Amino acid sequence: MNLFEAVKDSIPTITAAEHYGIEVKRNGMACCPFHDDRTPSMKVDKRFHCFGCQEDGDVIDFVGKLFDLSPKRAAEKLAEDFGVQYDGLQPWRPQKRPSVISKLEAAQEYRKKENRCYRVLCGYFHLLQDWKEQYAPQPSDEEWHPLFCEALQKIDYVEYLLDELISGTLEERTAIVKEKEKDLDRLERRITGFSASGKIEPHRSGIQEKMRGMRYPEELAM
Ligand SMILES: [Zn+2]
Repeated sequence: MNLFEAVKDSIPTITAAEHYGIEVKRNGMACCPFHDDRTPSMKVDKRFHCFGCQEDGDVIDFVGKLFDLSPKRAAEKLAEDFGVQYDGLQPWRPQKRPSVISKLEAAQEYRKKENRCYRVLCGYFHLLQDWKEQYAPQPSDEEWHPLFCEALQKIDYVEYLLDELISGTLEERTAIVKEKEKDLDRLERRITGFSASGKIEPHRSGIQEKMRGMRYPEELAM
């Protein structure tokens, strides 16, 4: 049953009139609230009709006119005041606090990003360490291996980034996560490629020890 049907079906006008403070005589007559009525000239029953001012209608018309509401709002008010169930009625839920929820979601979202950034950079750092040893130039080499060069170029920088992610302020970490986000997919594919080819042994480095003590932003503490 829709809102209008449900309300009209379950609330007679006389019940609504009395509920909203209109005195109805035993014979179903009441002083009309819609004109200056000294003697009861309104008949209220399932519907209402005023013999004085000719107002006439159902319970929704009555309440709409009484409180100056649109038919829909009047019907909603009646449904609410009398606990009428109808199709499309939103079940009552405790009020969420969107600001807190969305802050929490944003914080969780950030935490995920930061964790991923850390994980990928850590993987890259291990690769670099490995390359530095594995491709270290021999006296006979004419050229240095490109992976060895990359290791020399990047290892300090990546270690610095990891250090910042472990012990930096929220601002410092956010800046790194934001800057490195775009490189992570590419790095991750590279790391996976090298790991799959079995060239990488997991290292236990000082970084990994520090990782255990990794702190999260204060607002994430639960
Ligand atoms: Zn009247």
